[in-house]
Amino acid sequence: MRCGHLKMFWQTLRFRLTFWNTAVVLVVVLTTLVGVREGVRRAFLAEFDQLLREDSREIKLATQQFHDKRELLYLLLNSQAEGHGPHRWFVQMFDAQGQLIWASKNTPILAAPAAPFVDQIWVEAPPFRYWQTRIEPSKQTRLLLRVGASLETVDEDVATLTKIMLLAGGGILLLAPLGGYWLASRAIHPLSRIIATTDRLHPADLQERLPLRHTSDELDQLSLTINGLLDRIAAFLVRKRDFVANASHELRSPLAAVRSAVEVALAAPRTNEEYVNLLTDVMEQCAALEDLVNRLLVLAEGTGDILTTPGQRTRLDQVATKAVEMFQGVAETRDITLAVVALEEVMVPGSPYYLRQVVNNLLDNALKFSASGSRVAVEVRADSPGRRALLRITDTGIGIAAEDLPRIFERFYRSNKSRSPDDGPRGHGLGLSICQAIIMALQGEIHVQSTPGQGSCFTVLLPFPNPNKQGAC
Ligand code: ADP
Repeated sequence: MRCGHLKMFWQTLRFRLTFWNTAVVLVVVLTTLVGVREGVRRAFLAEFDQLLREDSREIKLATQQFHDKRELLYLLLNSQAEGHGPHRWFVQMFDAQGQLIWASKNTPILAAPAAPFVDQIWVEAPPFRYWQTRIEPSKQTRLLLRVGASLETVDEDVATLTKIMLLAGGGILLLAPLGGYWLASRAIHPLSRIIATTDRLHPADLQERLPLRHTSDELDQLSLTINGLLDRIAAFLVRKRDFVANASHELRSPLAAVRSAVEVALAAPRTNEEYVNLLTDVMEQCAALEDLVNRLLVLAEGTGDILTTPGQRTRLDQVATKAVEMFQGVAETRDITLAVVALEEVMVPGSPYYLRQVVNNLLDNALKFSASGSRVAVEVRADSPGRRALLRITDTGIGIAAEDLPRIFERFYRSNKSRSPDDGPRGHGLGLSICQAIIMALQGEIHVQSTPGQGSCFTVLLPFPNPNKQGAC
């Protein structure tokens, strides 16, 4: 159990942020420590070398000045060596053959210069470092001069500095995880609230929303996005619930009619003619049921793929011509003029089956909501910029009230005011929503303009099929 908790803690964002923060601080502190230590050591060495070079220049001048009074020079150099005792400063002089002539106090045991002698050179003989140079106190005399000192003081200073820096670095490294943990906790705190609130949400109750801090930071953006998603899910669930309720309601009427016809048939012996009439009723109700179920299937979720068969193309003008031929009889019975006012050959994506449903629904409505003597016009052509196909069905019927216009594409919506003039059987309020679903699936648009008492105009715009995709008509 404990092991599980520990494992979970390792996986938390808080731990990972703390870990990375500490790792970054560690790398930065170590690099800085090493860099500063090396930099300071080099600066100390440069200063050390500078001093020895200056000493060597002074001694060179002194050998020329005190050429005849060597003893006095040696005395002076010895007192200088004593003065620089802590640094173990020393001077050595060799003749032109490399034989030692004189060495000051504090001179360590060093190897004699090896021939051939170079003019000037730095020699490291830990812990000593010295500058060896050729000097000429007089025209006849050539000497080799060595001036050096111990590097121990430089190393001691560097070591002291390293200790101080290690102490400071240790302190920073101790504070880094604590500070990192505190910062990570502060940054993640709103996330914990988002998790807690999201955890409480349930599909049955999506009222609660994530709190916003109005800081416009990423976490506030996340809350806003999740809230937007919740709004859409809640609206979707309401639509779905309404759909199921409405669908059940619409299915109940034909089912009740079937049941009552069967009950009547079973209640008492009937004549053959009565049985035929009752069974005809049952047949009609079953046909209505079948039609309704088919419509519901089109609207049901997951049919989007079925609506659009990839690569399939259809001649929209041919579909419209067939629909007009089919509805001509109904139009004549109702004394309505049904005319094709424009018919261009246009190819659109989609199957003829679903495009027929679109044209039929629109024509059916146009005739249903038009009184005798009205006119229904059908138009199929390329849209003016020539980029889309246009289908327009215009009627001079009863029109749609302004308050109904925004809702007529909703599932099961039927306007009470716009009853069909012949008061025939009312539809299910699914025709236009089916049209919209099919047209949307084909990446098209459907628009309506209507004036009560004057008529309606439904316009469908569909993209031309992709020329790269082949398909059957
Ligand atoms: P229905 O299957 O009941 O006709 P629709 O979805 O096709 O349902 O239409 C929804 C509502 O839109 C109809 O009940 C009617 O009120 C209105 N409507 C649709 N087309 C027309 C039209 N051409 N003229 C007047 N009203 C119309």
